[in-house]
Amino acid sequence: QGAISFKDVHFSYDPARPILKGISFEVPAGKTVAVVGPSGAGKSTLSRLLYRFYDIQSGSVSVDGQDVRAVTQKSLRSAIGMVPQDTVLFNDTVAYNIRYGRPSASDADVKTAAEIAQIAHFIDLLPEGFDTKVGERGLKLSGGEKQRVAIARTVLKAPPILILDEATSALDTTTERDIQTALDVVSKNRTTLVIAHRLSTVIGADEIIVLKSGEIAERGTHAELLQKK
Ligand code: ADP
Ligand code: ADP
Repeated sequence: QGAISFKDVHFSYDPARPILKGISFEVPAGKTVAVVGPSGAGKSTLSRLLYRFYDIQSGSVSVDGQDVRAVTQKSLRSAIGMVPQDTVLFNDTVAYNIRYGRPSASDADVKTAAEIAQIAHFIDLLPEGFDTKVGERGLKLSGGEKQRVAIARTVLKAPPILILDEATSALDTTTERDIQTALDVVSKNRTTLVIAHRLSTVIGADEIIVLKSGEIAERGTHAELLQKK
């Protein structure tokens, strides 16, 4: 469930300056495809089109064979879990932030999601556990802890599709490895679109697309791309 298809996608924010110039690729259901490339290549734009922050000018973006323009934004967003580079949390409790959008989820569900995201060890540090407020006047979470909250939110939401948009690139190397492990658990058997800067961070992807100036410069598995070098 959740197969994604980009077919001959053209997109520009400003008609005078094309950003995506005929992009075609698929993410088969349950697989992981990574898009890598230099800053400004158009990588995040791809994820915004999938999420329907913007609509394409020509070509098509579809999920399970259905054009995203024919799907309501609400149902599209409930099918997609997104872990961005810098998670912005509400000035509310950790539990609220994990439960966000799913008020009916039980405390047990929230805790299970947190444990899958491996945040239990920092919640142990809090006497009130999940009920401690985060934000300006509350608890200050590190970048890695915020990413764990975002991952836990995604676990709870259990969407068929996952977008990881530079989800580890703001972290130090040790934290990055830790968060990557949690992301690997969450993305297993889920249709996943990974946006990344460096090839070395997406070794396990089923396919890697190298995007340059809005065009696909190369594609293949990690091993195949290394051979071409
Ligand atoms: P990447 O994720 O590969 O760094 P982006 O998709 O964020 O690239 O951006 C591709 C190009 O589109 C960049 O040149 C960027 O300046 C431009 N761009 C991104 N967002 C907007 C926007 N909202 N309005 C106008 N131009 C934008
Ligand atoms: P849904 O409730 O189906 O998740 P939304 O469009 O409300 O859909 O939000 C999509 C995702 O974006 C949420 O799951 C959440 O992870 C994130 N999100 C939206 N708004 C915020 C926000 N203000 N602060 C933090 N995360 C947010």
